[in-house]
Amino acid sequence: MPATDLDQIVNLCKRRGFVYPSAEIYGGFRSSYDYGPLGSLMLRNVKDAWVRSMVQTRDDVVLIDASILSPPQVWEASGHLANFTDPLVDCTKCKQRFREDHLEDPDTCPNCGAKGSFTAARAFNLMFKTFAGPVEGAGAEVYLRPETAQGMFLNFANVLQTSRKKPPFGIAQVGKSFRNEITPGNFIFRTREFEQMEMEFFVPPEEGPKWYEYWCNERLNWYIDLGIPAEMLKMRPHDADELSHYSTGTSDVEFMFPWGWGELEGIAQRTDYDLKQHAQHSGQKLEYFDQATNERYVPYVIEPAAGATRTMAAFLLAAYDEDVVNDEKRSVLRLHPRLAPYKVAVLPLSKKDTLTPLAKALYADIAERYMCEYDETQAIGRRYRRQDEIGTPLCVTVDFESLEDNAVTVRDRDSTEQVRVPIAELLPEISARLGF
Ligand SMILES: [Zn+2]
Repeated sequence: MPATDLDQIVNLCKRRGFVYPSAEIYGGFRSSYDYGPLGSLMLRNVKDAWVRSMVQTRDDVVLIDASILSPPQVWEASGHLANFTDPLVDCTKCKQRFREDHLEDPDTCPNCGAKGSFTAARAFNLMFKTFAGPVEGAGAEVYLRPETAQGMFLNFANVLQTSRKKPPFGIAQVGKSFRNEITPGNFIFRTREFEQMEMEFFVPPEEGPKWYEYWCNERLNWYIDLGIPAEMLKMRPHDADELSHYSTGTSDVEFMFPWGWGELEGIAQRTDYDLKQHAQHSGQKLEYFDQATNERYVPYVIEPAAGATRTMAAFLLAAYDEDVVNDEKRSVLRLHPRLAPYKVAVLPLSKKDTLTPLAKALYADIAERYMCEYDETQAIGRRYRRQDEIGTPLCVTVDFESLEDNAVTVRDRDSTEQVRVPIAELLPEISARLGF
């Protein structure tokens, strides 16, 4: 049964080295988190699984990696300078600041209880601004990107010229984005610095609706294929009043978090808005000329945009389980093997010198192909429990018999079943069990 309380995951993440509060020795830093030895591997696996599905196994999507810093012109054209704002009000009594649209009662301060104490709402831009070069001030302003998407629009013509792709085709990117959220929270669900997995899919305008439906299905299935139970996911179409002014349709993939349904990803029909905006502001042609039909057009765009860090939280919550093994309570992360930080742990039964050379040799072999851990501390039962709790699908145990029969024990995380496998067949056995 998946985690019912966010703290189950927060505690496990801290205890086992997935996620730490950032700058913790200084008391932590405002909803910022550092990914530890296991969390950094898992976050990378989430992003790799996305790239594998969106780029590697398709022939119509390419990957880019655009810069995080960008000049104001980009955000003027995209509309972010004018529109990427939250309405903020200040309480004149206690001086606290709130998002007006998050207030339960627009006349009552949730902090001090004062009535009618709010200032008029002001538009607060969510972009982080900084300065490039040695001079601060006007002319030196740059912005940390609040989404990775604009990098794909800025490079549309470059990719078109160099990649031999033509619509329908996509440009994908994985990377950090920054939003000065007023109310971050819920662990790694909403943070000011976060990581996105976005793809802009450029299509002939008349094919927009078809591809929108296609990507809604593809994206929902990605989460299910990687182990989230279908009943913990839903596709929620936006109401008309939620849509961006340029969008002709948006749906969110939502996950059942312990606090309720929350967005993992949005699939949006952005029409030709972004390319036209950048064409107009830059004076460059951003269109496609189809030589077959002699037609020139600005492609429509379907954008699946997912949050890598909150998706990692969802995978952790869904994979968490508690059961009883040998009359002892166990917590286990039933992570898909592609997402698990370590695929295999090599565990010599004892620290005795006689076992070490063989165990180390097996570790070296397996580590060539899979992220793998070597652990010779503690009793074997304790070490199995540790691997279960960090989601390692397979343990390979080297015992004294191994020196005689050239075989090892392979233990399965989910069933805890153990089988004897000849060392000569170990790598194929691991590959068959992991599925890759
Ligand atoms: Zn107040």
